[in-house]
Order: sequence, then C-alpha cells, then structure tokens
Amino acid sequence: MTALTLLGSTGSIGVSTLDVVRRLPERFCIFALCAGRNADLLASQIAEFRPQLVVVETDSVRASLMERLASAGLDSGSLPAVETGPAALVAAATAQDAGIVMSAIVGVAGLQATYEAVKAGKRIGLANKEVLVASGKLVMEAARAHNSELIPVDSEHNGAHQALRAGRRHEVTRLILTASGGPFRNTPKDQLREVTVEQALNHPTWKMGQRITIDSATMMNKGFEVIEACWLFDFAPSDVDVVIHPQSSVHAMVEYLDGSLLAQISTTDMRMPIQYALTWPERLPAPVPPMDWSSVRSLEFFPPDLDKFPLLRLAYEAQLSGGSAPCTLNAADEIAVEAFVNRQISFPEIHAVVAETLSREPARSPASIADVLEIDRASRRRAGELVRQRSQNATSAQPAGKR
Ligand code: NAD
Ligand code: MG
Repeated sequence: MTALTLLGSTGSIGVSTLDVVRRLPERFCIFALCAGRNADLLASQIAEFRPQLVVVETDSVRASLMERLASAGLDSGSLPAVETGPAALVAAATAQDAGIVMSAIVGVAGLQATYEAVKAGKRIGLANKEVLVASGKLVMEAARAHNSELIPVDSEHNGAHQALRAGRRHEVTRLILTASGGPFRNTPKDQLREVTVEQALNHPTWKMGQRITIDSATMMNKGFEVIEACWLFDFAPSDVDVVIHPQSSVHAMVEYLDGSLLAQISTTDMRMPIQYALTWPERLPAPVPPMDWSSVRSLEFFPPDLDKFPLLRLAYEAQLSGGSAPCTLNAADEIAVEAFVNRQISFPEIHAVVAETLSREPARSPASIADVLEIDRASRRRAGELVRQRSQNATSAQPAGKR
C-alpha cells in the first residue's frame, strides 16, 4: 500500500487523482490532503479518504473546515490534524509516511513543497508545471542528487515519457508537443481585442482550472510546456516543436534519428496520465473508457501561428535566455491572467504585460529556491504596476459618459 500526499486536492487534477485512488483501494491510500480555500469539498474528501494530515491556506479556512467536520458527525478520534501555511505544506510533502507526492497546486504556491519532496527523494507526480518553469534548473539538480523520480502528469509530457520508453535517449532527435489551439484557434488576430473572459474560459477539449484554461487560450500554456519538456527530458528549446492538433488525441510524438515517429494517443481524460504516474513502471487497467475509433473522423495537424499567439514565442526566448527569465515569465503571466479575468485588461494585453515585465526585470541567476521566490515576488510587483497603469489609461481614455 502506498500513501499519497496530494498537494491541491480540491482542484481539477486533485479531484481526478482521488478518483484514481478510489478505484485502486488495494494499492493507494491518502496520507495528506492539501488545498487552498474550498472547505466544503475538502470536508467531503476528508470524510471519504480519512487522511492523517490536512493543510489549508489560511486560519479562516481552517476554522470553517473544522465547523464542517464537526457537523458531519465524524468520530473525533479519526479526525486529521489540520494545519495552515507553507511550512505545513512542506511537512506534508516530506513526511516519512508519504510514498508519493502528487504536485497539483496551481502556480508557484506549490514550488517549495514540491522542491522539498524532491530533496527527500520522493516519487513526484508532477502536474504543477510552474515548478519547472520557475525553477527547472534547481529542481532537476535536486532530483538527480536525491534520486527523486519526477513522473510528468501533464498529458503531453506524460505522452512523451511513454514514447521515450521505445528507444534510447541518444537516439531521439526531436520532441513534438501537440496543442488544441484553444478557443481562439480560428479567431482572426484583429478580433482578439474583443474576446470575453467567458469565451476564453470555454476550452474546446479539456476541463481544467481557470489559470491553465486562460493560458491555453493565449497558448502561454504550450510555451510553459516547451520549458517543462526541456527540463524533464533534457532538450534544447530548438528541439521541441509545437503542433496544433484540435482533437487532442495525440498528446506527444518522439522522433528518433532514423526518422521514425512514435506518438502517444489516448482519450482526453487526465485520470490516464495520473494513474500512469502513480503506478509507473507498471501499467494497470485503464481508469478511462478506451478510444472510440468509430467516432474519430480525422486527426488534423497544423503549424502554430506565433504572430497571433506571441506568448508561445516569448516562452522559447525566455528558455533560451535562461536564468530568471522563465520565472519572471510565469509570475507576470499569473498576474496578467488574473487581471484579464477581473476585466482590468484585454486579452492581447496579457502578452503586452508579460513582455513588458520581462524587458524591465533585471536578468538574474537564482541560486536557491529563496532567490526564485524573491524573483517571483519582484516580477509580480512589476506586472501589477503595469496592469494598474494600463487600466488607469483605459479608464481615462473612455468618453466621460462611459466611466
Ligand atoms: P485548479 O485551479 O483546479 O486547482 C488548484 C489547486 O491548488 C486547488 O486545490 C487549490 O485549492 C490549490 N491551491 C491553490 N493555491 C494554494 C495554496 N496557496 N496552498 C494550498 N493549495 C493551493 O488547477 P488544476 O487545473 O487542477 O491545475 C493544477 C496544476 O496542474 C497547474 O499547475 C496546472 O498547470 C497543471 N495541469 C493541469 C491540467 C488539468 O487538466 N487540469 C493538465 C496539465 C497540467
Ligand atoms: Mg498539457
């Protein structure tokens, strides 16, 4: 029996992970559930999975969780310890009892706990791509030094992990990541100014958390995935290609030096890569329905339009620059996405804010996670100022009657 620490249990990946655990009760149990603010869902997860430890973001969430647990009539002897804050996340991720850590918090909030779990030599199911985007060098060095297995959950990287098993690493020449193209694949560039938050949140093939859904609409997500792939599998950015594939059935392709390409294909359901990450190198029966080939009409592939989706190009450039650039890219994007969702800036301004933050923040070489977190904070502050300037300019540019 392997016990899991689940970082981000109430999110899209967290809920899917618990379903995989629910289906394999003889293999997995839950040691710790860690989440942000959704006390209702967390209370029902605690009642079902009976973790020993629970971590939430704030004291007020802790108080409302305790109320819900009390009114659920759980026997007090079996209630978990409930802690708050970053140090408690680290304790949950490094505890002796945690055999596997599923890293599924969104954003840099999951970085420190994931990094410490790597240093503790844990197997990591890595969904939280921002960990490698912000701090790929330090995390990969720690994984090598402490024999920690980083098994990617992100569907493209999980597909690549599978296709890479067919040959030796030195026989591989190229990695191809597919992208659905998002909801604006066919929207002309000059109409992107007018798109709404609701349209951007309506992803054609995947149901995911808010940030990654907007990042898919701008293709920043694919840019992050290029960076993630470079770190995970030791590729130069120029050896990782992106191909638009609207059906999202092929997740990744690995090209070998003899010209043979191996593709990984499966239904668009994250429980498949999650189960793979938990059970690797074993394969267990699928937690998802098999591909229905009677309904597959065609599989299409197109090159991406980097002019329409400039954040993808910016990600390649940031990874080539190295140092603090990818960390700043991620931090600025998180602020810009939040500002777009709060209707402070337009869709194309997400790129404008990120590009300007990158050009203004000094390049640094982070030597520790503390440095990375400091670069993250400085980049967020800068991006926040740029958002304020832009929304003030937009308000003063409006005709008086519309203010
Ligand atoms: P989500 O927004 O649905 O869930 C995020 C989780 O993190 C929630 O449980 C939330 O409570 C928790 N959280 C946020 N801040 C926290 C904090 N400070 N402390 C503790 N917990 C905190 O996001 P998601 O879609 O599940 O994505 C999670 C990660 O996985 C992201 O990095 C995303 O890029 C990556 N990912 C997701 C998918 C997907 O299909 N959803 C696919 C590939 C990669
Ligand atoms: Mg992905």
